[in-house]
Amino acid sequence: MSITSLDNTFVASTYGRFPIELSHGKGAKLVDTNGKEYIDMGTGIAVNLFGVCDDEWNAAVKAQLDKLAHTSNLYYTEPCAKLAEILCARTGMKKVFFSNSGAEANECAIKTARRYSFKKYGDGRSTIVTLKQSFHGRTITTLAATGQDSFHTEFGPFTEGFVYADANDINSVITLAEENNACAVMMELVQGEGGVMKLDEAFVTAVADFCNKNDILLIIDEVQTGNGRTGSLYAYEQFGIIPDIVSTAKGLGGGLPIGATMFGTKTDDVLTPGSHGSTFGGNPVCCAGAYNIISRIDDKLLSDVKAKSEYIFNELGSADGIKSVSGMGLMIGLETEKDAKEIVALCREKGVLVLTAKTKVRLLPPLNITMEELTKAVNVIKECIK
Ligand SMILES: *Cc1c(COP(=O)(O)O)cnc(C)c1O
Repeated sequence: MSITSLDNTFVASTYGRFPIELSHGKGAKLVDTNGKEYIDMGTGIAVNLFGVCDDEWNAAVKAQLDKLAHTSNLYYTEPCAKLAEILCARTGMKKVFFSNSGAEANECAIKTARRYSFKKYGDGRSTIVTLKQSFHGRTITTLAATGQDSFHTEFGPFTEGFVYADANDINSVITLAEENNACAVMMELVQGEGGVMKLDEAFVTAVADFCNKNDILLIIDEVQTGNGRTGSLYAYEQFGIIPDIVSTAKGLGGGLPIGATMFGTKTDDVLTPGSHGSTFGGNPVCCAGAYNIISRIDDKLLSDVKAKSEYIFNELGSADGIKSVSGMGLMIGLETEKDAKEIVALCREKGVLVLTAKTKVRLLPPLNITMEELTKAVNVIKECIK
């Protein structure tokens, strides 16, 4: 049987896969089992920050693999400790909890917010305000946190204690937080799955002010926006706010599964021994790869990300068939006259892999994509959208 038929027969049918069997690649180049080459503008959904088969990341992962792969959290290991240190040093956050995915990083953020509030104020102050069109994960609780009705059917009952405010409407956040005696507000600064919508800066600072004045924790979900993707190490830096909790995953691993929940001064001692955990959390191999990724997100790379972003906004903003370009850094949404799915298929035929987000075409190229590859990809996209 072919790979495709084996997969269709034996892998649970939860994904609408594109009709390609990927085999290998280098950087932004992917090759399928027929030998056809593609320029990757999706990076495994914002995961492969430096593309695939990156020499430095591979070396870091292999070196750790040759020492030990897993220990459980009963023991100390260097990669986990060093990754936590560099994350805190680069962000000003105080402590980090490691897990294995974005959903788990958000679960930890939610548990921490509720425990913080319970310890200080007792029962009844557990609601978390999230935003409409948000996406926070696929577990029952993070689905409940996700502010899209379409995610709230069939799998009920869902976790209680989430209410959904309108994005960019501060009064909606304040009213819901006050009515429900909220303990936290959780949001993405660029709503990825919701259509690559960047929040207004004035709204974000108003939410941060309101949270700060009322001892409501501000949780920023940087699972997709984080790790250099938007042109700063974390997107919140560009909004001039200091969150109480930051969750991240995707690009942090550079290709291996890892989630991280970072705690600021208010929340760094909320979790205590036994209160939370994960068997694989802080896995040495994943952490060694992630350390390599974070240590390479420097000013030079970030200014390249911004320059490439400007290039895409300029080239595609005025292209035939485009209605609007949204997003931040190398997390970009294209509102097109043609159907987004049709554009994805056309681009694929012409050797460029792009994604969708709601009704938009979504671009998440490797941060180190060469200008030559990017120019090629943008030209193909221009052809396909007009
Ligand atoms: C992808 C994503 C998640 C879920 O991450 P998983 O690793 O798939 O669990 C959560 N929040 C945001 C903003 C995401 O983009």
